[in-house]
Amino acid sequence: MKEQFDSKTSYCRSLGHHVPFRYCRTVNNGLPCRKIRDCWYEKIDIDGFIAQFYTESEHKQIFAPPAEKISSLIDLIRKARDNK
Ligand code: SF4
Repeated sequence: MKEQFDSKTSYCRSLGHHVPFRYCRTVNNGLPCRKIRDCWYEKIDIDGFIAQFYTESEHKQIFAPPAEKISSLIDLIRKARDNK
């Protein structure tokens, strides 16, 4: 059952206060936060939870780097290439 850990809480370094697991597993357009492994591995079997309830395609969506980081990386690669 996906809701089994919803009432557990963890300190969120991004928000600066505690949040329930329900928030962490739904905050990314209904999918888990990309940091869910880092924040929850000590409290629950988070890898087992993700493997059980999300498809491979959803795994890629969940753990994809944020778009701004990708564009920054592309910019850095372009600048490095232009400086050759
Ligand atoms: S998983 Fe995301 S929302 Fe949840 S505590 Fe960690 S950083 Fe905050």
